[in-house]
Amino acid sequence: MKNLTLFSLLFLLLACNKPVPGEIREIPVLPKPQSVSFYKGDFIMSHDATLKFDQSDIKVKEIADQVTAFVGKLSIPEKGKGNIELTIDNQADMKPSGYQIKVRRNKIRITAKNADGLFYGFQTLKQLIPSDGSGKVPFLDMTDFPAFGWRGLMLDCSRTFLPKDYVLKYIDRLAAIKMNILHLHLTDDQGWRIEIKKYPELTRICSNFDPKYAGEVNGFYTQEDIREIVAYAAKNFITVVPEIEMPGHSTEIFAAYPQFSCSGKKSAIFPFFKGPGVTEDILCAGNDSVFTFMEDVLSEVIALFPSEYIHIGGDEAPKAAWKKCSKCQNRIKKEGLKDEAELQSYFIRRIEKFINSKGRKLIGWDEILEGGLAENAAVMSWRGVQGGIEAARQGHCVVMSPTSHCYFDYSYVTTSAEKVYSYHPVPNELSVSQTKLVLGAQANMWTHIARTEETIDAQIFPRLYALAEVLWTNPVTRDYPDLEKRISKLRGYENH
Ligand SMILES: [Zn+2]
Repeated sequence: MKNLTLFSLLFLLLACNKPVPGEIREIPVLPKPQSVSFYKGDFIMSHDATLKFDQSDIKVKEIADQVTAFVGKLSIPEKGKGNIELTIDNQADMKPSGYQIKVRRNKIRITAKNADGLFYGFQTLKQLIPSDGSGKVPFLDMTDFPAFGWRGLMLDCSRTFLPKDYVLKYIDRLAAIKMNILHLHLTDDQGWRIEIKKYPELTRICSNFDPKYAGEVNGFYTQEDIREIVAYAAKNFITVVPEIEMPGHSTEIFAAYPQFSCSGKKSAIFPFFKGPGVTEDILCAGNDSVFTFMEDVLSEVIALFPSEYIHIGGDEAPKAAWKKCSKCQNRIKKEGLKDEAELQSYFIRRIEKFINSKGRKLIGWDEILEGGLAENAAVMSWRGVQGGIEAARQGHCVVMSPTSHCYFDYSYVTTSAEKVYSYHPVPNELSVSQTKLVLGAQANMWTHIARTEETIDAQIFPRLYALAEVLWTNPVTRDYPDLEKRISKLRGYENH
């Protein structure tokens, strides 16, 4: 009888440890996790919760510091019974960048194979803690991982210079919704925005609008600013991809260095809608000193940005100047090129060799397909999806950013958040092996129309929430009204 009682007690204890399945609870996690099981009961997050983690792992320690800072600012009960555990398990059977969260009476445990997964688990935890002061987090088991590895936003810092603090704020906003690429469009006709030590005129002259356009905002990032942005992004598991435009969209360079253009004429820097419009002048492809210049610039850029990919633009390069230029025509003859499209291809291939020699990969807008794609180049498909399909068929990596769904400078009338949410980055035309070449997608925010922080924010959100979920979550579970409901429950895109 005594034994039986002990046995019953033991059985009861074991049974108590097993969570009782609970009803589905609404949790405003965005992007929606891959799978969640709920159990009856709630963990109470409190200020006296102990944070347990491996102190010897620097990356984990950095995440733990962020968790501590976040919990410290929360309005939650002072006392509770639970702890938070952050665990890296190298042997865990998880998808890349995945994580698991287990919430029980005494603890919340986030487990991941790598630090990025742990960071994403922390982003989810932030959204699980309600703003009502109760600290209540439902008992649950969550398994989560992203559908795509490239989840990006491009900010155009050339047409409108975006201050460093604004860029840093965007890193927080991207991290909160588990996006991992910030592409900075650093140069264009409207201004050169990055300090290059070897060519100080690029920022002294080429970052300023012509004085006749009074009231325009000038500016650029010093190399110190860039280091700060890149380091802050890294802490948030975001890669900053720099873009230096060539051979077109480069007339701002000729304000200081007219010798690099075909015409040799100096140009003035004009706001997008106030100046002469698209000019014919582009970098001269027949002049070797242009390549020396660009290689010098790229050397400094590569030293600043650890990104695997370096974006070289390559879009909308008008060919009229090359047609009239004797140096460019000589190059076509000497290299046995068919026409100016092949000259553009020659230009990009030559730059690609240089980028590859530095251990990096080239990515460019889909025009780099014209005249033949450089050997290892990746393509960012913007004029629709055809460029992406073509590049993948040729065995190249692709990032999708078609104007139809991913151009956030477009009006909400043409591109609603619901339309963005309907996007599928992998075109049906691709074979199974080709689909693996689609790295993901990104939103592009050009700043020629919206030119203030408020208007730019309004173009990006709420559409970026929709794209974040497209790139993370299983498309089978898409539910737009549910997305809208979750957006309304979040604390706002800062989410801090
Ligand atoms: Zn030329």
